Amino acid sequence: MTSRPAAVWSPRYACDIGAHVFPTAKYAATLQALVASGDLPEAPAALEPPPATRELLAAAHDADYLDDLEALRWTPRTQYSELPLTREIVDAFALGASGTTEAARRALQRGAAAHLGGGLHHAYAGHAEGFCYLNDLAVAARVLLREGLVRRIAVVDLDVHQGNGTAHIFRDEPAVFTLSLHQENNYPNPKESGDLDVGLADGTGDEAYLAALLPALERVWTFAPELVLYQAGADPYADDQLGGLALSFAGLEARDRAVIEGCARRGIPVAATLGGGYARRLEDTVRIHATTSRIALAVARHGARGALA
Ligand SMILES: [Zn+2]
Repeated sequence: MTSRPAAVWSPRYACDIGAHVFPTAKYAATLQALVASGDLPEAPAALEPPPATRELLAAAHDADYLDDLEALRWTPRTQYSELPLTREIVDAFALGASGTTEAARRALQRGAAAHLGGGLHHAYAGHAEGFCYLNDLAVAARVLLREGLVRRIAVVDLDVHQGNGTAHIFRDEPAVFTLSLHQENNYPNPKESGDLDVGLADGTGDEAYLAALLPALERVWTFAPELVLYQAGADPYADDQLGGLALSFAGLEARDRAVIEGCARRGIPVAATLGGGYARRLEDTVRIHATTSRIALAVARHGARGALA
């Protein structure tokens, strides 16, 4: 049996959310960038995740909240999404939860995988928040643990915003270690307590950022995860409209290599998800996401313990 591609994507991620700072066009644009550079094949049918089922989503979400989403009901559980509530949007994010789960499965097979979607870390078990209806990271972690494919998972969340939903969902789960390295003076307020939270100052910049990241990753390695789910938000970028950590393209690439190649050197499968990204120029967000994905795909090509420069 030939192995599946080490990437996951669907054209249905590009849903219509109206005039919004969140560019859903970035998903297809990231795929196009990877096809143009020869990192992914022209025909992306094999990238499509399986359909999302209610059972899949229920791995991390409450029944009454899923009822509201299915009925498209505007309730205290759904109304803080900061997104419209339409069938197309709910279906897109449900498929994204299946996508991260599928990327995690492919990472176990290939050593690393890139989900050109997902990373919706503000969704709680029972309510929406911050452009996030469904927490794909939590769904994927719960499903793989339930199936016994892995016993310990680390969520490495490097979006500029704290991964509050993920931290809350796993607050009493010893099998999941949640790291969030984020801008302290930014949404969400208040923050949740994860296993390790590193709040950074406004305008931190590349050097101080990487100096904070490396010891945080040491804590992840000490946890000895059998899988890392990486939320590689593009919004720590200097020209992001919703972030203020002032990282350069080179700083973000060094961040991605520290996580993805750090996992590979230790034989830990890693699935990367895109997370946030609100650069003034869409092509900047896409460039950051494509770089993250390319690093994961390179690890998959060379094997988890392959030679890394
Ligand atoms: Zn963010």
